[in-house]
Amino acid sequence: MTEVVMTEARAVPFYCPYCGEEDLRPATAPHAAWSCADCRRVFVVRLVGMAAVPTGQVAR
Ligand SMILES: [Zn+2]
Repeated sequence: MTEVVMTEARAVPFYCPYCGEEDLRPATAPHAAWSCADCRRVFVVRLVGMAAVPTGQVAR
């Protein structure tokens, strides 16, 4: 089961966006960053906003 957990503090990624590995660990810095154990990239998942609802459709 895949469940997206969203908190104000940290969005939890399930896969590295760069190499696709699942072995992600919280990084000590910067704040709320994740470190990929495979490709060693450190990244932050940031919510930009909600997508606009096309005209004529009801927002859910
Ligand atoms: Zn990676």
